[in-house]
Amino acid sequence: MTAASAAARKPRLLEGGPIASEIRAMVRGDVAAFQERYGYVPGLAVVIVGRDAPSTVYLQQILRSCRTVGVEGRLVEIEGEVSPGRLRRQLMELNEDPLISGVIVQMPLPPGIPLATVLDTLDPRKDIDGIHPRNAGLMTLGYEGFLPTTAQAAVEILKRSGIEIAGRRAVVIGRSNVVGKPAAILLLRENATVTVCHTRTRDLEREVKRAEILLVAAGHPGLIRGDMLRRGVVVVDVGINVVEGRLVGDVDFESASRVASAITPVPGGVGPVTNALLLTHVMRAAWDQAATESGGAALPRAALEPVPSGPGPS
Ligand code: NAD
Repeated sequence: MTAASAAARKPRLLEGGPIASEIRAMVRGDVAAFQERYGYVPGLAVVIVGRDAPSTVYLQQILRSCRTVGVEGRLVEIEGEVSPGRLRRQLMELNEDPLISGVIVQMPLPPGIPLATVLDTLDPRKDIDGIHPRNAGLMTLGYEGFLPTTAQAAVEILKRSGIEIAGRRAVVIGRSNVVGKPAAILLLRENATVTVCHTRTRDLEREVKRAEILLVAAGHPGLIRGDMLRRGVVVVDVGINVVEGRLVGDVDFESASRVASAITPVPGGVGPVTNALLLTHVMRAAWDQAATESGGAALPRAALEPVPSGPGPS
């Protein structure tokens, strides 16, 4: 292969950094407008239950993003012997705290703390990462609610990069409630024809080969190789894995790059957009809660407005 043809085959790199900067700039303005109107800055509480190094790093990144836009990030660590009751009491306190607009809880929870502890307690109006069944229900029915941020980021990268989604065959690998399943629903909303693959999928390679858009969220480094892909596919790699001290996705970037027309890098793809979108959720929560407190709209604005491609088409 000549140098020229190799260069010609290079896929478009769908970088999250510039998109995230754009979103953060918008949020910065929104924070200033909010502060001018209500006299305080919205707060995001990041709850850490017990200690777990990798997710602590992720949560520290979120707190850093808060600082860059002027949102008040508050780290809430529940240390020592953690019981469901202690976590519940902490969440109830945050639910009642008028300076906290959004709450996220470190996942996975330690053994012995059921997820229901969070789902049953967290105020859905502060559930800015869309884990509460109310928000999941709104999303599924095509209303806005709070979307699970990582899934939203994966689709937002495509939309903001001008990648056509409508009518295309999209394959999602992974069906978790936080990434795969919501990503499939969001792609469906964009009128893609969606297939969801998981650990019980009979012939993963055959499904992947059909994809015009491939979104991978499995948590397995190297699961997808270039030889499995259809030429020209657009690849969104949500996976974050540490291999020999390096962050890598679920897709073998090098071989996939020889076949794909566009691909997200890891790191630097979905991750930064996820963090930035989370800040937009904090702001939306803040405006809605402040309006309700001051006798304005009683329901979150977006919950009243179906998204354009929402519940309508069948
Ligand atoms: P999970 O373990 O809850 O779910 C993984 C899913 O992948 C499951 O539904 C499973 O059925 C499927 N899967 C696993 N191995 C498979 C295989 N060999 N073939 C087919 N399907 C397979 O994980 P998750 O929480 O959904 O996260 C997925 C990945 O995304 C992880 O690497 C995680 O670190 C990453 N993640 C990234 C961000 C971000 O901001 N970029 C945020 C959250 C999670």
